[in-house]
Amino acid sequence: MPFFICPNCKRRSVDLDGYEGFSAQAVQCRECGFGFLFELLEDYYPAPGTGFVVCDAAARVLAAGRGVFELTGFRDSDLLGRDVADALALSDTSPIDVVREWGVRKLGQQMAIRTKAGREKSVTADFFPAYDDDGGLMLALTPR
Ligand SMILES: [Zn+2]
Repeated sequence: MPFFICPNCKRRSVDLDGYEGFSAQAVQCRECGFGFLFELLEDYYPAPGTGFVVCDAAARVLAAGRGVFELTGFRDSDLLGRDVADALALSDTSPIDVVREWGVRKLGQQMAIRTKAGREKSVTADFFPAYDDDGGLMLALTPR
């Protein structure tokens, strides 16, 4: 059963929730009105401090949800269109390649990012492949 999660407010929902048309891209979040929901094959429980970053097939940032600013100091507009590994100075980019190449999730990756202020921060990063035709991926960053 597919699960959906709002990249902005992290509200989880399942297909049985009554979504019509079953097109994740067309479905807005009922909670916060965000423009799309991200499909997950298995349920996922983000931590309160987790922030989501959604990227296109080239790993460029499409959207950054709530919590990302608190974690990284970057606003949505600072990140949009940038290579996510570059923008956040991810200390390990290999999970991105694995997710893009194999379409599998990579959870619990321990790595560091660099905040806008230039500070290193330890995070746990979870990577999810997108299942729509456009491809892409989503990062869930949680402070450690
Ligand atoms: Zn939402």
